[in-house]
Amino acid sequence: MKVPFTNLKALHAPLKREIQRAIGKVIDSGDFAGGPFVERFEEQFANYCGSSHAIGVGSGTDALWLTLTAMGIGPGDEVITVPMSFIATAEAISLTGARPAFVDIDPVTYTMDPSALESAITSRTKALIPVHLFGQVAEMAPLLRVALKYNLKVIEDAAQSHGAEYQNRKAGSIGHAGCFSFYPGKNLGAIGEAGAIVTNDPQLASRLRALRDHGQTRKYHHKIIGWNSRMDGIQAAVLSLKLPNLDRENDRRRAHAAAYDELLGPIKEVSCPRIGNHRTHAYHIYSVRTPERERVLSVLAQNDIGFGIHYPVPIHLQPAYQNLGHRAGDFPISEACSKSFISLPIFAALSPIQIQAVGDALSQAWPATVLS
Ligand SMILES: *Cc1c(COP(=O)(O)O)cnc(C)c1O
Repeated sequence: MKVPFTNLKALHAPLKREIQRAIGKVIDSGDFAGGPFVERFEEQFANYCGSSHAIGVGSGTDALWLTLTAMGIGPGDEVITVPMSFIATAEAISLTGARPAFVDIDPVTYTMDPSALESAITSRTKALIPVHLFGQVAEMAPLLRVALKYNLKVIEDAAQSHGAEYQNRKAGSIGHAGCFSFYPGKNLGAIGEAGAIVTNDPQLASRLRALRDHGQTRKYHHKIIGWNSRMDGIQAAVLSLKLPNLDRENDRRRAHAAAYDELLGPIKEVSCPRIGNHRTHAYHIYSVRTPERERVLSVLAQNDIGFGIHYPVPIHLQPAYQNLGHRAGDFPISEACSKSFISLPIFAALSPIQIQAVGDALSQAWPATVLS
């Protein structure tokens, strides 16, 4: 049984007609760059997240970079994040001219370890970006307490956690700003590139609206130097169409995760994801940890099971960040995870037979446990 890692075609097939109709409306209106379709999606997404404002932009990377820029962060500043994330989190910091500083992740939730935060703060620290890795919100309460004490901005990297919750609040709505990606493979995906920021701060929102549109609030009157990161009308129209399905799809992901938990639970060499207190996981990624990863991956490949590795090299050890002067051993949890994580297929349209096939392949990789 072939099990792909993800299947965007299957996800969009039932929506194809509606998507084509939505695109048709945008074509008829000519509102391709920003405009009413974007405004409508912004209102719906802000509402969904429980935030007062949403600002649609070109990508999740832009969302992070523009938010830092709107907060006045730049050269000479430091922004704290985690080494176990997609590179975009650190890139956004670097592109402002600020320096990324890292705090290791917690070994249970794989999100920023609150107990390690305070010692990473310097007189230059201006903000922190906790990453809600794999769809689980970081432990925000203690992070916010430290941020308040040192007067730091908190930007949630919610690119993997649309609809996830922490203490009954939606990912992205808890800090000063939340940054989302609608890259096609994310839990809420566009049919191209898109991103958004949510915030309750009206000043930050209006700064972001200006920054994404060349710093103008009135056409050809530029108060600040901005950039072009307007959301596409077509992407907004499709996102408006898909947003009502998000909760149902996240429920499906949670059901798949529960099925994996049960199948893999008895295999003692495989550690399933765990959930911290007061949280609802959105399972953008279902990543297990196992020793002898290379051998396990070859068993998966022999069985036609798709997989991913998120991420094989932590950011502090990427060649692109050599200039920060980090060495192996600096962030041991992130490093150990990068050597042992395997992401299993968890897209919404996955079938029970496919999940069983993944479980069977992993049992085959660790036959001793099956016998004991
Ligand atoms: C996808 C992702 C981003 C970047 O989003 P893009 O829309 O691809 O620019 C940033 N952070 C994390 C954690 C991501 O997974």
